[in-house]
Amino acid sequence: MNSNEMSSLGMINGYAPDDALRLPAATEALIGRRAAVLGSSYRLFYEEPVHFVRGEGVWLYDADGAAYLDVYNNVASLGHAQPDVVAAVSRQSATLNTHTRYLDETILDYAEALLETLPDALGRVIFTCTGSEANDLAYRVARSHTGATGVIVTALAYHGVTDAVSQFSPSLGANVPLGAHVRTVAAPDAYHAPDVDVGKRLAADVRSAIDDMARHGIKPAMMICDTIFSSDGIFSHPPGFLRDAVEAVRDAGGLFVADEVQPGFGRTGEAMWGFERHGIVPDIVTAGKPMGNGQPIAGLFARPEIVDAFGHKARYFNTFGGNPVSCAAGRAVLQVIQRDGLIENARMVGDYLRQELRRLAQEDDRLGDIRGVGLFTGAEMVVSGGNRRPDGDLALRLVNDLRRNKVLISASGPAANVLKIRPPIIFGTDHVDHFISVFDNVLKGSR
Ligand code: PMP
Repeated sequence: MNSNEMSSLGMINGYAPDDALRLPAATEALIGRRAAVLGSSYRLFYEEPVHFVRGEGVWLYDADGAAYLDVYNNVASLGHAQPDVVAAVSRQSATLNTHTRYLDETILDYAEALLETLPDALGRVIFTCTGSEANDLAYRVARSHTGATGVIVTALAYHGVTDAVSQFSPSLGANVPLGAHVRTVAAPDAYHAPDVDVGKRLAADVRSAIDDMARHGIKPAMMICDTIFSSDGIFSHPPGFLRDAVEAVRDAGGLFVADEVQPGFGRTGEAMWGFERHGIVPDIVTAGKPMGNGQPIAGLFARPEIVDAFGHKARYFNTFGGNPVSCAAGRAVLQVIQRDGLIENARMVGDYLRQELRRLAQEDDRLGDIRGVGLFTGAEMVVSGGNRRPDGDLALRLVNDLRRNKVLISASGPAANVLKIRPPIIFGTDHVDHFISVFDNVLKGSR
């Protein structure tokens, strides 16, 4: 299977049984146990899967006590076993854990603090447990508000796993059909179209998608974008490229939903939220992953007139969504981001990381493009002298060689050739130096 096929099957950077590759007996035994109970829908990262038993800060430790540098995980965005979050969770668990149907100040304190970080227009929050649930709810709210059903997403977007959301998550691959009401537009890829104004092209594509919907009797309910385009291949520049597309969807009566599951909570280093870099205020924002630093909490933030109208028609109760323990974790996350200046850290350390990668790129033209913002970096691997031709096999080899050298990253994009370098936002310049030194060796070894 080549990397294109792997990408379309959602198998980028995955373990596949291979008789030629001898794994330690203990690893084989765990893989067997796992397959016996979890079955075929779960995937494992890396040709040689890793078994972690403990995490601390930017380090993960395997069963033999070996430390791996985590340059990939964005759920434990403040670091693994972050002490303030651990303390907040234990305190609240030992005090009370109920749900949103009782008056509860922990929930309200968190909701107020969260809304403080968002534009004034977004005055309501609804809590869920996962990003998928938040996007599922966003789609219900958008349909209810617009009376329409159409959805516009980028070509390789991922928004989640519910029945409705999987229909607008093309990165799930050819075996998971897109809905008849869904249209895809090209991702804002400035590297493979250097002479194109990506913002204008995106807006033109959105207008064409709306025209095509109209020919099929469909009106747009929403356009939803991951504002850092992680699964499409990581597209961050130029800031502002989303503006015209948002206007185009609003002109046609649709809403703009910013999926902040990936860029949210300071990762971009320029602001708390990814959409802020584009100078837009979404109608709905969804968030998840880093929101509780590992505690399952996600949510939707929206203009009051949009969600209140929905709420009058339909109640929304999510048993675990917004429970006090998750809200205590969420509150601690916000406090730590602010107290430790982590947005600024993401900006500073991310710039340093890309500067170092660009230094390596001067000596190796297979590092075709280094892009990203804050601590979300894409390094696009291409064929040497190959006119920007993607090299997914090389990217995959690098990901697995880094893993063998105890450094964790992954890859994304249509050809799975964009290294996804997305460490916890407490990453320091010393961690960058460690990463770059291992990466340099692995890259040289791959020639
Ligand atoms: N949106 C984006 C952009 C995501 O990356 C993800 C998760 N990878 C989701 C939504 C879904 O979140 P969850 O896995 O919490 O359902």
